[in-house]
Amino acid sequence: ANRYGLRKIRFNQINEVNDIDDSSPSIIRNSNKCIKCGDCVMVCEEIQGVGALGFAHRGTDVKIMPAFNKKLSETNCVNCGQCRIVCPTGAITINNTTDKVWNAIYDKSKRIVAQIAPAVRVALGEEFGLKPGDVTIGKIVAVLKRLGVDEVYDTAVGADLTVIEETNEFLERINQNKNLPLFTSCCPAWVKFAENKYPELMDNISTCKSPQQMFGTVVKKIYGELDKKDGKETIMLSIMPCTAKKAEMNRPEFEHDGIKEVDIVLTTQGLSMMIKEMGIDFNDIEEESLDMPFGMTSGAGIIFGTTGGVTEAVLRRLLKNKFGKDDCEIIFNSVRGLENVKEATVNYDGRDIKIAVVHGLKNADDIIRQIKSGEKNYDLIEVMACRGGCIAGGGQPVPKVITRE
Ligand code: SF4
Repeated sequence: ANRYGLRKIRFNQINEVNDIDDSSPSIIRNSNKCIKCGDCVMVCEEIQGVGALGFAHRGTDVKIMPAFNKKLSETNCVNCGQCRIVCPTGAITINNTTDKVWNAIYDKSKRIVAQIAPAVRVALGEEFGLKPGDVTIGKIVAVLKRLGVDEVYDTAVGADLTVIEETNEFLERINQNKNLPLFTSCCPAWVKFAENKYPELMDNISTCKSPQQMFGTVVKKIYGELDKKDGKETIMLSIMPCTAKKAEMNRPEFEHDGIKEVDIVLTTQGLSMMIKEMGIDFNDIEEESLDMPFGMTSGAGIIFGTTGGVTEAVLRRLLKNKFGKDDCEIIFNSVRGLENVKEATVNYDGRDIKIAVVHGLKNADDIIRQIKSGEKNYDLIEVMACRGGCIAGGGQPVPKVITRE
């Protein structure tokens, strides 16, 4: 029997649980499809260091499915969705919001304004058979317009605002030598991980909103005025590579007077489903431009999609006019790449600034322990929960081949 055949036999012997857990805003778990392979447990524990999906009662009570013995909302799940990427049977799937998008589109009292995150544009092209690396933002704009979305923008605008805010905040902390190291706050799974495990670090986490929420704030402010005039309600639709963004939009601090900054988060996978549902030929569709007034973005916002991108964008802004082009390239190269932890030291106004870039929450956990023990010392730390950054987010189409170290 092959790997999954063997597991299926075990599954048939023990599966007496009939349970669908939809308590998480990010993922749905169907225990009927679980074959106890343990891949989700491995990712959650060993890669992410979260342990929300432990093998509780293993070998003692076969009626209790490992990884399914508690509702996700009762665990310390950080909503990263990495378990869904490795689940071989579809027992863990994304909490699907395509119905909400369709309902909003068909409601004529709603104005749908969409934002597309940087990591979506490449993954969606690959899903439809384009070459790896092909950027498809123009095609996504065209698709969203065909689906009935009114205006389409790039989340990179929000990322540009995050860079400005975060650089200013970092400089202020450096000058005051206060609340260092500064941890980035763009990744909601990391923020939740820190809240759960290291609440004492909350003052060290940047107070800046993530690009999704930054852009949502701007849109709701500007279109709120328009809504009053034309009697419509603006719905902020986010197209994200990320399942944790579905939880982030529901955080109470991102709702003001009953109005959410972001109303619906649709993953790359969800958008792919809608395109297929509508029978749109993604490869053939003519590219369209982003709308105005937010149709212009910088390259800094776009590199947020990969590990090291936030740090590079902050450094670009910080070091502007301080170093020559070649010096900057050397500095930026040290924060690029896929090593678990990347380090760089930059001299800024006579002070050595120590930087670390980490992806994967287990790596973040390790680095925090090293800081606490005095082994390491940094001023700025970028943390992204997913290995490789948002390009490998839990809401992306599942890669055709998953390799493991
Ligand atoms: Fe979401 Fe990106 Fe964080 Fe992954 S790394 S949880 S995709 S924000």
